[in-house]
Amino acid sequence: MRIGIPEGLLFHRYERFIRCFFERLGVDVIYSGKTNRKILEEGIKSCVDEACLPIKVFHGHVSKLSKECDKIAVFRLMKCEYGESICPKFCGLPELVKSGTGEDNLVFTGPLYLNDKNKAKKAFIRDAKLLGIPAYKTSRAFESAYKELFSNKQKRDLDNKIVIALLGHPYNTKDSFINMNLIDKLKKMGVGIVTEEDVSEEDKLKQQTGLMKKPYWLFLRDNFGAASYLSEKKKIDGIIYLSSFCCGTDSITIEMIRNRIKDLPMLVLKLDEHTGEAGFNTRIEAFVELLERRKKHEANLS
Ligand code: SF4
Repeated sequence: MRIGIPEGLLFHRYERFIRCFFERLGVDVIYSGKTNRKILEEGIKSCVDEACLPIKVFHGHVSKLSKECDKIAVFRLMKCEYGESICPKFCGLPELVKSGTGEDNLVFTGPLYLNDKNKAKKAFIRDAKLLGIPAYKTSRAFESAYKELFSNKQKRDLDNKIVIALLGHPYNTKDSFINMNLIDKLKKMGVGIVTEEDVSEEDKLKQQTGLMKKPYWLFLRDNFGAASYLSEKKKIDGIIYLSSFCCGTDSITIEMIRNRIKDLPMLVLKLDEHTGEAGFNTRIEAFVELLERRKKHEANLS
C-alpha cells in the first residue's frame, strides 16, 4: 500500500512533523512534489471556483497523487499546537477534496487537535488502525514527530542593505510556484528576508499584550506577532504580505498589522490564478526602490 502526501497547504508548516511521522511509521509514502502549472490546472478543474488559490493548488496535488497511490492523507486540522484555529476550510478539507476530485481513498482524516497531545495521538492511532497499522507503532512514530512541532527554528544573520519581512500563510510564502519565485527575486535585488519563523514563540506572544482578546486564528497570531516584534525592534525596513484573494482571515490580519506598525511601509500582494507575473514584478521592484530611498533619506537626516 502506498500513501500519498500532498505537498500543499499545511504541509509547508508541518513538513518536519509529517516526514518524521511517516518515516517512523515505516509505510511506503509518495510525496506529490513541488507545485507546477499542471498541478494548478488540475486543481482549478477539480475545485469549486470560489475557493482561494492554495485550496485549488491542494486539489491539484491530490489529483496528481490519485494516479500514483492507493490512499492519500488529507488531514483535518481543528487546532494548531498552540491552540489557535485555522479557517473553516481546514476542518472540512477531506469533504471538500472528496467532492471536488471524486477521490474517496482519503486517510488520516480524523479531527486533529494538536494542542492536546493525547487526543492527537489517539486520532493518529485510530486512523492508522484502519490501515492495519498496530497502535504501538503509530504511538512511537507520533511521539518522535510531535517533538518536531516545537523544535528550534532557524535564525538568520542579515547584513543586507534592506531587510524585508515576508509574511503570509506558509503555503503562499514557501511555495515558489504560487509566489512566482518571490524569494529568489528579492535575493537577486540584494534584499534580506526574514519570516515569522525567525521570531521566537515567546516574542510573538509578548506582542499580543494590549489586544482586546487573544488572536483566534493561527496565522493572525504568527504574522501579527512577528510583524509587531520586528517593527518594534527596528529589525526590518518594510513588510511584504502575500495574501490569497478572498481570504477572510487575511482581511483581519492585514488591518491589525497596519494598525500596529504605523508608518513602516507594507506591500500587500494578492494572489490568485489570474495574477500576472509582470505586474507582480513591477510592484516588488517599486517597493524595494521606495525602501532604499527611505533608508537613504533617514541616513541623511541622522
Ligand atoms: S486561511 Fe485564507 S488562504 Fe488559507 S485556506 Fe482559508 S481562505 Fe484560503
